[in-house]
Parts: sequence; structure tokens; C-alpha cells
Amino acid sequence: MVDARRAAVRSWLEANPQPTQADLGRAGYLTPHWPEPWGLGADAEHQLIIDDELAGVETRFPHSAIGLGWAGPTLLAGGSPEQRDRWLPGILDGSEMWCQLFSEPEAGSDLASLRLDAEPDGDDWVISGQKIWSTWANESDWGILLARTSRGATKYDGISYFCLDMSSPGIEIRKIIEMTGGNHFNETFFNEVRVPGDCLIGQEGDGWRLAKVTLGAERLSLSEGGVLWGMGPTAEECLAHLQTGTLHNSAWTDPVERQRFSSVANDSEIIRLLSLRMLEMAVSGDTAHAQAFASIRKCLADVFGQDVLSLVKDRRGAEGMLGTQDEQTEHTDVWHWGYLFSRALTIGGGTSEVQRNIIGERLLGLPREPS
Ligand SMILES: Cc1cc2nc3c(=O)[nH]c(=O)nc-3n(C[C@H](O)[C@H](O)[C@H](O)COP(=O)(O)OP(=O)(O)OC[C@H]3O[C@@H](n4cnc5c(N)ncnc54)[C@H](O)[C@@H]3O)c2cc1C
Repeated sequence: MVDARRAAVRSWLEANPQPTQADLGRAGYLTPHWPEPWGLGADAEHQLIIDDELAGVETRFPHSAIGLGWAGPTLLAGGSPEQRDRWLPGILDGSEMWCQLFSEPEAGSDLASLRLDAEPDGDDWVISGQKIWSTWANESDWGILLARTSRGATKYDGISYFCLDMSSPGIEIRKIIEMTGGNHFNETFFNEVRVPGDCLIGQEGDGWRLAKVTLGAERLSLSEGGVLWGMGPTAEECLAHLQTGTLHNSAWTDPVERQRFSSVANDSEIIRLLSLRMLEMAVSGDTAHAQAFASIRKCLADVFGQDVLSLVKDRRGAEGMLGTQDEQTEHTDVWHWGYLFSRALTIGGGTSEVQRNIIGERLLGLPREPS
């Protein structure tokens, strides 16, 4: 007899053969681990069943990653019931796009050094300063924002967490054109931007605790799908591509290239197994270990993404040098775009060096690095 939970997903899929993000969100299948009414409060086994049954549904991994993967978990951890009611429906149905406004020119790895200023004024906060590397800020309706609302004894004190309406007067967004030719992230300037008091998440000064919720969720989220943080080709597609067509014709006679290929194949399997282990920890509620494992996985997977795309590039020989990119044609040659974008993997979402610090301190119990 088919498990009742499995049967429920199958009959829902029969009624919704091509579900949109909104359909999945309404049914609780986009984030089954979230509590009701936003998800299904699903335990580990239930989530795996749902994942299994929805394996062929493309909209399972929607574009609005920052809303679903970063903002949503933070609102669940620190938002008031009114704030959840305000923002979670638009995150789940994909009608509102989100960006993350954390990094500043002098505060990346050392995020707690951030200086963006938020001054109280009546019921509002008034924000002035700059953020950088704000992915999709130019397309977003809302942003999760860290600002300094007071100076405390340590740099971790006095940081507060806001949801910011990106259409607020005083926000200026300047595109950064990347070496892919595309525009993925931006500089964001704030000139006395007014933020209503009810957009403060948690208490004033609670921002560092909530930022850690966001960053933990971010590292877990960066693991699904393609080898470029979920974007681009999957590991299987990369390996298949290396074994077919023109890439294969010249045969793998060069011993160095053969070794590179087998390393890529090995690493792919190690990362797959590590991902399953991390998923098991996450769905069984062992969040602390899942997050530390996410750092191990990120270190390996980011270098893997770079290695496999470099190998494809090298195998293409002279043709590989001809790939062109511009803003309009981004993604037209996924291998060329992917090769260029893969350089960012070991920087964004916390650099590889910072991940290693996390592994050393949280998993291996090494002394904390001096602050
Ligand atoms: C594609 C992409 C998208 C991004 N999207 C966003 C976004 O949407 N929102 C956002 O807020 N930010 C975003 N970022 C920014 C990202 O979080 C930062 O780039 C990252 O945290 C590193 O900060 P930094 O660039 O200031 O480098 P720095 O912190 O200045 O680091 C410079 C170098 O020093 C090393 N280093 C620094 N501290 C240590 C240490 N303690 N121990 C050992 N080595 C160290 C780093 O590893 C690095 O090699 C994005 C970045 C990329 C690449």
C-alpha cells in the first residue's frame, strides 16, 4: 500500500500537473518544513517523500532564492505574526522579489564591522550610507537589510535587522557589470531613506543574531541544483558534457587531463554524498551540525564548480576562447558564462577562507581566531 503522504502528493500532482510556484507555495510543497500555514510542518521523512514525488517539477527551485532561502527563514525566526502575514505570502507565491543588503565596501567577511547608519526619527528609522554586491537589488521589491542603530561595547552590538521597501525614496542603485558581461549585483546607496518602525525585525540590536540565521540558511540553500550555487549545469550534466561530442573526439590521451577528469568525477560523488548527509541533518533538526557541514560542502562544491568548468573550457581548445558575453546574451553559452561566473563561487556567501575558519572552530573545536 502506498504511504498516505506519498498518495497525497500524487493526487495533488494529478490535479496540478504543471504547478506554478504559487500553486506549490499554496499547497505547502515549496517549503514543507516551514510551520503551518506557510508549510506543512513536515518532519524529515515527510520532506524526503515530497521531494521524491516532486522530483520532475521544475518550479520546485524557483528564481526567488533570496526571499525563500534567506528572508523567509529569518522572518520565521524573528518576525512578528503581522510581519509574517505581510511578507511570507509574496515570498511563497513569487510575486515579490527580494535582495540581501548586508555587505559594505569595508564589511564583507567581517560583516559585523558594518557602518550603514539608522537613526530613529518619530516612528521611523532614517537610513544613510552604502551597501555593495547587492544581488538583484535593481529588480527587487524588498530587501533584508542590516544597519547600525547604536554603538555598543562590541561591534556585534547595536546592529538591527530591517525589511526595506526597495521603492522607497532616497535609494539609488548602480549596476555593477561583471566579467561575464552580465549584471547580477549592484552598489546600493541610501540617502536619508525612511523605514517605518514596523519594518524592524525582532528587537533593536537583535540584528547580529538574526543575521546568523540568514547566513546559515543561505549556505544550506546554496547547495541545490546546478554547480554554480544551484544555477547552471548540474554535476551530472558537466560530466556527461565532458564525455560527449567534440569534447570527447580528441580522446582523453593526455595523462594530466585524464587525472583532472577522474578528480572531477570523484569530487562529484563526494559532494553528492556530503549533500545527502547535510540534508539528513537539516531535516532531522540538527541545524548546528547541518550548518557546519554546509561550510565543508561549500568549500568543496565551489572549487568543484571551478574545476569542472575549467576542464570544459580547456577541452574546447581554441573554440573555448571565442565565447562572448554581454548583458543581453547572458546565459547563451552556458559553458562560457559558467566558466567566468565560477570565479565568484569561492567569494560569495562567505569566502572559502571564512568557511574554513567556521569548520575549524565549530566542527574541530580549534581556538577561535583573534578578533
Ligand atoms: C556573486 C556574488 C554575489 C553576492 N551577493 C551578495 C548579496 O546579495 N548581498 C550581500 O550583502 N553581499 C553579497 N555578496 C558579497 C559577499 O558576501 C562578499 O563578497 C564576501 O562576504 C567577501 O567579502 P569581501 O568581498 O568584502 O572580501 P573581504 O572580506 O575583503 O576578503 C578579502 C580576502 O581576505 C580573506 N579574508 C577575510 N577575512 C579573513 C579571515 N578572517 N581569515 C582568513 N581570510 C580572510 C577573504 O577570504 C578574501 O580572500 C556577493 C558576492 C558575490 C561574489
